[in-house]
Amino acid sequence: MYRIHILMAMDSHTIAQGSREVKEALIRDLALAGISDEVKIVETGSLGISNKGVVLVVFPDDVYYVNVTTNDIPDIISEHLIKGRIVERLHYKKAAVGKGGEKKDERLGKQVRVVLKNAGIIDPQSIEEYIAEDGYEALGHAVTEMTPEQVREEVKKSGLQGRGGAFFPAGIKWDFAAGTEADQKYIICNADEGEPGTFKDRLILEGDPHSIIEGMALAGYAVGATKGYVYIRGEYRMSIEHVQIAIDSARENGLLGQGIFASDFDFDLEIREGAGAYICGEETALIESIEGRRGEPRDKPPFPPAEGLWGKPTVVNNVETLANIPQIILKGAKWYRNFGTEKSPGTKVFTMVGNINNPGLIEVPMGITLREIIYNIGGGIPNGKGFLLAQMGGTTGGILIEEHLDLPMTVETLRGIGAGLGSGALLVVDDSQCPVDLVKNFVEFFNHESCGKCTLCREGTGRLHELLSRLTSGRGEEKDIELVQVLSATMMRGAFCGLGQAAPVPILGCLRYFKDVFIRHASEHVCAANKCEMEAVAETIAA
Ligand code: SF4
Repeated sequence: MYRIHILMAMDSHTIAQGSREVKEALIRDLALAGISDEVKIVETGSLGISNKGVVLVVFPDDVYYVNVTTNDIPDIISEHLIKGRIVERLHYKKAAVGKGGEKKDERLGKQVRVVLKNAGIIDPQSIEEYIAEDGYEALGHAVTEMTPEQVREEVKKSGLQGRGGAFFPAGIKWDFAAGTEADQKYIICNADEGEPGTFKDRLILEGDPHSIIEGMALAGYAVGATKGYVYIRGEYRMSIEHVQIAIDSARENGLLGQGIFASDFDFDLEIREGAGAYICGEETALIESIEGRRGEPRDKPPFPPAEGLWGKPTVVNNVETLANIPQIILKGAKWYRNFGTEKSPGTKVFTMVGNINNPGLIEVPMGITLREIIYNIGGGIPNGKGFLLAQMGGTTGGILIEEHLDLPMTVETLRGIGAGLGSGALLVVDDSQCPVDLVKNFVEFFNHESCGKCTLCREGTGRLHELLSRLTSGRGEEKDIELVQVLSATMMRGAFCGLGQAAPVPILGCLRYFKDVFIRHASEHVCAANKCEMEAVAETIAA
């Protein structure tokens, strides 16, 4: 029986910050202090805090320590673990995480944990710890007491929309696959997270891999699929490792394989590693990649639920979508609808990045306002600067400004202003930044990631980058702004897939709200934020 438990975040971010070294120092110094048998160290996934170095939590006191180094360990042991006094200089009082489930924890602000209920709480490499938190109970209940139709019906009633960016109703997608006759069907977990600033799927996979496996098995049961693939971005080494360990232990425990829960349901999984192409996050490009071809989108229709992997009905669901499924089956659609709004039920996981005091991973009910996210949970904007804009949903996301701060963040309200929740990345930009420079950098990314299949995107992203570079270097003219607008509108109408269609969204958003800034760059060759290097002006004047 241990007197103290120490939870250590051991995700890829904290490992880069030295969490392994801190853990070694902790083990060594606990032995020196003679209290090794009183303290249990538990490795867990991300605690949701991304800019505070190595993070650990001491239970039962529930005290968070941040920016912990090996030099701090003797103090934590002698002061806290032995004398019971908190080490104030490391104490994170405004802790943003904790075990909440649907119960609200005061420190979480308006956060609600459904998808992240285990992340940062359990040891992701232990199937026993997942099971202790009701893990695989939903699967057992479904395969022994529910028909596949009832599982699909519950998911439809929950109103769960796919969290990969399109927000298509998950239950309806499952219906399409279930209604297609075939000798083989597949479930694919899309874990090819490639948006700059988006890392929620990585942290879910690292912190709670069994929730994805259980979600995929439930999807398989619901649509009649017996085989699944987890397609994970190749750079996500820890995600791959944790998911593989989870698959192996699920198989050893009879939770994958043949006759799951002594039923006639068979389901098994394999991992496929992506090579890092952004376009492979698009479901048909992802399928091409699994089939061994270059990742390029397919013509649609047919859509994957009718004809997907190797021509068979295939459901492709995002990591966050799948992580919701066990909770919905276990607690019911009605419970799920306690969160969010009528048309956008449930919660949404966001990664907050950019000019914000508390960047990291959060889960909030749909319908929360941007102001609450930025100023309540995110701690506001650093260094006393003002809010310029937020980009919601990743690099292709729409632009939100001051007037949108109190808008409920739902699928329908954001669509109404030409934006969306997208991948769940929230980029906060302070008023010392330049919107022209910002969108130039975005489009450079898209130009690099364009798969090259269609001319509008392949050439269009390059031309947009050239035009925006002219503006940021002082070579621009006002007609360049018109060209940017025309080309953007053409790409949105005519590009083959979502990448080319959405790449101009932030450009048009910034043009809509900051056109005067673009005009000043073009006509006066002035960047008021002083972020653009107007070297061409100096050359012109000298000539
Ligand atoms: Fe490829 Fe871009 Fe065309 Fe999509 S829009 S198919 S990413 S070139």
